Amino acid sequence: MHKVIVLGTGPAGLTAAIYLARANMQPLVIEGPEPGGQLTTTTEVENFPGFPEGIMGPELMENMRKQAERFGAVFKRGWVKKVNLSKRPFQVFLGEEVLESESLILSTGASAKLLQIPGEKENIGRGVSTCATCDGFFFRGKKIVVVGGGDSAMEEATFLTKFATQVTVVHRRNELRASKIMQDRARANEKIKWKMNRTPLEIIAGENGVTGIKVKNNETGETEIIETDGVFVAIGHKPNTDFLEGQVKTDELGYIVVEPGTTRTSVPGVFACGDVQDHVYRQAITAAGTGCMAALDCERFLEGSATHDWSKSL
Ligand code: NAP
Repeated sequence: MHKVIVLGTGPAGLTAAIYLARANMQPLVIEGPEPGGQLTTTTEVENFPGFPEGIMGPELMENMRKQAERFGAVFKRGWVKKVNLSKRPFQVFLGEEVLESESLILSTGASAKLLQIPGEKENIGRGVSTCATCDGFFFRGKKIVVVGGGDSAMEEATFLTKFATQVTVVHRRNELRASKIMQDRARANEKIKWKMNRTPLEIIAGENGVTGIKVKNNETGETEIIETDGVFVAIGHKPNTDFLEGQVKTDELGYIVVEPGTTRTSVPGVFACGDVQDHVYRQAITAAGTGCMAALDCERFLEGSATHDWSKSL
């Protein structure tokens, strides 16, 4: 029987683990298929406070993991198939094993959706990115393509014009999905060009990274290659909540709903932090912040000093 199990090892889960371990709660931390989370797929992280020269994403995550281990967090590798939250202790089904815990911290993150086209996965970090805030700076004075027609694509395209000489939005339909205000802002930006009704087919790269993207014109069927130094894929994120099978309240996009200002979910004793409950900020530092909150909320819950049962008001 564990006091607390943390699911996920991005900045949220590892920060929770550091706090829990320092509070002598011996957290068991489950590492999924991408230990360290989304930051391990980026290169240099320049906006995490405390690293004036920047730090490589994988190194930052390895440091956080070591810090949690130093205080007694125990790590276990595996894929959580499902959980049973109907009564305490909660059950976590990890491969063939069934783990039991008095409380649970959900920090399974969100995954950026990819186009699933040739040249995409293999060039992540070499010109393909899913995070303008993380990687935009590396494209100073370069040409960028942003794929997508939603608010994220508009936001990323607008943001990237701070660095790029030209940003081309490639969208598969003639109408954008984005809200009017975001569209208007992007359309008013002279640095943004539009390739509407185009389906991305392939990302082309040379020795030094991405050089272009091949797209199909959906009206004429013709293909063309748009020359670019980078491709930002902004077609949405998917929170990793499938394994919960609806046992915790989620919003219409699948993100876990937490009591505002806390990390408490609809199930008392289950807490959520990081991108699995946040589609607005999605930063390593905000994830780490909510990880700390989850550890403190969890500690108070186990001490019996949590004030009220929010789940009843849902
Ligand atoms: P989204 O609204 O789901 O838009 C995804 C876009 O990507 C759509 O235009 C979609 O095309 C396109 N797309 C999806 N799969 C594709 C594929 N395989 N190939 C090519 N294109 C593909 O996602 P989002 O923009 O990330 O926004 C998610 C939520 O967060 C929304 O509720 C949004 O309002 C919110 N958000 C808000 C802000 C803000 O207010 N500042 C910023 C970002 C996000 P179709 O249109 O053809 O389906």
